[in-house]
Amino acid sequence: MSVATALPDTMLIGDLHFQVRESPRRATVGITVDRDGALLLHAPRQCDPETLATWAYTKRMWVYRKLAEKDLLLSAKPDKEFVTGEGFAYLGRSHRLLVTDDTDVVRMHRGRLLMPRRVANGHDPGAALIRWYRQRGHQWLPGRLKPWAMRMSLTPTGLDVRDLGYRWGSLNSSGGLNIHWAALQLPPTLIDYILVHELAHLTHPQHTPAFWATVERVLSDYERRKTELLTVGAQLWLGSGSGLSATRPQRITAAGSLVRGEASRQVGE
Ligand SMILES: [Zn+2]
Repeated sequence: MSVATALPDTMLIGDLHFQVRESPRRATVGITVDRDGALLLHAPRQCDPETLATWAYTKRMWVYRKLAEKDLLLSAKPDKEFVTGEGFAYLGRSHRLLVTDDTDVVRMHRGRLLMPRRVANGHDPGAALIRWYRQRGHQWLPGRLKPWAMRMSLTPTGLDVRDLGYRWGSLNSSGGLNIHWAALQLPPTLIDYILVHELAHLTHPQHTPAFWATVERVLSDYERRKTELLTVGAQLWLGSGSGLSATRPQRITAAGSLVRGEASRQVGE
């Protein structure tokens, strides 16, 4: 006869997706945020799933904060099929894919995203679409960046659109901005937050109070956008084979005793 309810492999808590790891040696529960944004929920053996979920729920803001501090993309990556009707986001709007012989290149036409049939049936249609996002980014982002840079009296040396793994944006050593191509799926208001965030890094490399003050000076509602980015970011397509597993996990941990669902002290901040 089985006594304890078995723990599920994964748990969805709020809009956060956790992998559950049961450990016979643990006496406490804990949350680990991997460097690639994967969330692990560690539980002692025979831990009651409901109590575990309740505890994890109280830690949601801590998890959001950790993800935000790391500029992480959330780990949920919807799988896409390159067939007519599949939806792809561009600047916050969903566009249906149309696989067709009427185009030689991936392009947008009257709200439809056209993809040549030979590309869709080829060995890597995802790569072709990523190239399209990068092209659009190179065309669209500079005009969006300019007014923010002027308001902040900052002059980035350039702008590139690339795959940045788990980051939305970064700076190169000569003061140029890199923006993840996946960001082109976001609504412009959230792209603005990424641009302002990276611009602020030109004067403040770390996420210090002075850094956030610089962001707030031009984006007074940046906190809201930051939180929205975490939720919306979880819905985005990140391509296939983004190479995330190649990065060594750098772990951030929240831990606590499981005493009747009571929120306990966090360590590892
Ligand atoms: Zn940052």
